[in-house]
Amino acid sequence: MEDDSPLDCLIIGAGPAGLTAGINLSRFFRNIRIIDAGYSRASLIPCTHNYPGFPEGINGNALLEQLRKQLRINGGQVHQGEVLSLQRADNGDFLAHTPTDVIRARTVLLATGVVDVEPELEGFQAVKEKALIRYCPICDGFEFTNERIGVIARDEHGVHESVFIKHFSADLTMVDIDDGAFLDQRLTDRLSQENIGLVQGCVDRIFADDRDFVHVRMQDGTEHVFDVLYCALGTRVRSALSRELGARRNADDYLIIDEHMQTGIEGLYAAGDMTNRLSQITVATGQAAIAATAIHNRLQQR
Ligand SMILES: Cc1cc2nc3c(=O)[nH]c(=O)nc-3n(C[C@H](O)[C@H](O)[C@H](O)COP(=O)(O)OP(=O)(O)OC[C@H]3O[C@@H](n4cnc5c(N)ncnc54)[C@H](O)[C@@H]3O)c2cc1C
Repeated sequence: MEDDSPLDCLIIGAGPAGLTAGINLSRFFRNIRIIDAGYSRASLIPCTHNYPGFPEGINGNALLEQLRKQLRINGGQVHQGEVLSLQRADNGDFLAHTPTDVIRARTVLLATGVVDVEPELEGFQAVKEKALIRYCPICDGFEFTNERIGVIARDEHGVHESVFIKHFSADLTMVDIDDGAFLDQRLTDRLSQENIGLVQGCVDRIFADDRDFVHVRMQDGTEHVFDVLYCALGTRVRSALSRELGARRNADDYLIIDEHMQTGIEGLYAAGDMTNRLSQITVATGQAAIAATAIHNRLQQR
């Protein structure tokens, strides 16, 4: 069913970026809708210590709930659902298709985030649930200063990530889960120069013991023990909706946006993890504030 009166803005995704944009646009008295499929990356954060204003840290779900509360106080709400496709109508409006509706909007903010690539290793999910697998050393490397750190990696990206993490601890080992398939001499030399250990071979399984030390057991029977494991296999950008409209993306699939967070498509904006590698809540919320103001100004001019 299609509702003929267009929204001022449809926000797709209710992580920190989408929620912050929603708060700002609600406070501009804009007629918006936020649709969210319910798997924000922020919901995986055990306790963030680098988001300003929370000196003791805050759990990711608790932060999302605070943002949703702030949205409600300002008159907005999140609609559960998934946008399956996005098209342009003849008059320039956007048409978003959900399983039950076609939503018409003058502008769209994409805030659909990214997904972390994870290895198919026995025991990985159980260790992750204990918050012993980390993804963002920029965010939390500080918390593991001088601890025994392992990095699950396979390629050049993983080597760069390992070198970055080395700043926090001399006791660092890269666990190459593809046994050298994507590592050439130049990359292994780089690890040696940085004094980073390298484990190769086939991983049998990983598990945490009762002291919460993480064990990586190899098929040849050797075992490596860490205080924490970083997963450095990269991310996949949730860019499908932008692709349908032909929005420009860079070589890593991140959306290319201008200083107002507008994509190459008029009226189509993007904020948060899907626009840059520096995936952080502060970046997502800052971009969302810029996008919301630009969207409001654009609608004023019409
Ligand atoms: C384990 C972990 C720890 C982290 N720790 C920190 C930290 O300490 N500090 C920090 O700053 N950052 C941290 N991050 C990164 C932080 O979570 C992200 O930067 C932040 O969540 C990005 O917000 P976002 O709104 O761009 O995307 P997300 O939070 O991922 O939200 C995107 C939303 O879009 C929805 N969506 C996607 N596609 C559709 C669709 N088609 N229709 C409807 N909805 C859709 C998803 O369901 C999701 O809810 C961490 C990440 C992880 C995984």
